[in-house]
Amino acid sequence: MRMDIVVRCVCGHRIGLHELLAHGFVVLGGEPAHVYLKYRCSVCDYEGLEIMEYERWNRMLREAEPADRGVEDLRQLGPITACEQLQFAQALANLTETELAELKG
Ligand SMILES: [Zn+2]
Repeated sequence: MRMDIVVRCVCGHRIGLHELLAHGFVVLGGEPAHVYLKYRCSVCDYEGLEIMEYERWNRMLREAEPADRGVEDLRQLGPITACEQLQFAQALANLTETELAELKG
């Protein structure tokens, strides 16, 4: 499995690091707990928002090739906009009971 594959689009396309538009962190108790990612699919042009565990994200970045352009590009992603924060809040509101329990630790 390639480590620069981040999430899967609704169309089934695997989103790579280079298709991410923005990312931000959910910080709980001073530690990043989750990462949310905004992407645009290069196949169907769908813009989506995805949440993953910070640990998984961290591991993925660590294991990506150091020379990988995708990681460099990622560091230059723009800040999260108010609109995206709103989308994220909506995504959070749709979390299942189990996911919420995990967030609360
Ligand atoms: Zn797609």
